[in-house]
Amino acid sequence: MSQPENGYLLAARGLTKHFPIYRGIVLQRQVGAVRAVDQVDLTIMPGETLALVGESGSGKTTIGKLLIRVLRPTAGEIWFGGQDIAHLNDAALRPVRRRMQMVYQDPTSSLNPRRRVKDIIEDPLVIHKIGDAAQRASRVEELLHLVELPVEFAYRYPNALSGGQKQRVGIARALALNPAFIVLDEPTSALDVSVQAKIIALLKRLQAELGLTYLFITHDLRVVRNLATRVGVMYLGRIVEQAPTETLYANPAHPYTRALLSAIPALDEEELAAIPQKVPLQGEIPSAAHVPPGCAFHPRCPARFAPCDRVVPRESVVAEGHLVRCHLYDPEYAPA
Ligand code: SF4
Repeated sequence: MSQPENGYLLAARGLTKHFPIYRGIVLQRQVGAVRAVDQVDLTIMPGETLALVGESGSGKTTIGKLLIRVLRPTAGEIWFGGQDIAHLNDAALRPVRRRMQMVYQDPTSSLNPRRRVKDIIEDPLVIHKIGDAAQRASRVEELLHLVELPVEFAYRYPNALSGGQKQRVGIARALALNPAFIVLDEPTSALDVSVQAKIIALLKRLQAELGLTYLFITHDLRVVRNLATRVGVMYLGRIVEQAPTETLYANPAHPYTRALLSAIPALDEEELAAIPQKVPLQGEIPSAAHVPPGCAFHPRCPARFAPCDRVVPRESVVAEGHLVRCHLYDPEYAPA
């Protein structure tokens, strides 16, 4: 594979992560693999927000961790800053890591309860040996201001903060090194609805002011519409549909996307009526250790037909920028 076309901030090609399953106590042998991420291609442009949506177990968080190289991929390429970082060692990754950060789902467990807010936010600066003590203290103040927390919070411990305030600390920590790209892993799902809206507004403001690029991981399609430029829908380790956000809501193509949209309780009647061929989501997502053959969604898909349980769907183009993996859109298989 060669470097992707110009203009991207980050691009993955054939990105794959399989976790081996071993059996046996003394002589362990591999008996299978969890196919968490399988042959994913995606491109993220500077300043945009790509949302990855899907049920738990679809591989969204694993993709986020692969893209910022918290995890090493089994195969594939990750292009960032003009180089393939997929298989760089820790020393070569060090300067890259300064430019990529992650905000975690649960602010309570992601902040060390025994450390003060100032120490938590300052950590990345200390690890990367940036500035002296006075310069770092001044940067902490600046970051607290950026995430709209009072400067006095620097001396508090996380357990003296609300959930929303803790998440603001997590965001401040992620901003400390001036990153270009941030993975937001369900950053609002542990928060009350009213707090969620404030954190989303903060993330949007920071993106506009600092020119940030986001990968926003969520199982909740309601929060996506307000924030994302484009959406990728994941199912069992693959992106089954990608489209600009409004296109996805107005014209969802994949039966799984339609099922996810049909399941949004707060969607208004007008929008609900606009979803063609509403599909109820049946059953549970299977384990990624036992991915069904053919189209992985076929055991749950009411639209399945002859090739679905034996042929893996190719990517088909529905419209410009709107891609789907479903035989219904493949000229070779689509019913007349
Ligand atoms: Fe359903 Fe077949 Fe399309 Fe898969 S390929 S989503 S089973 S119609």
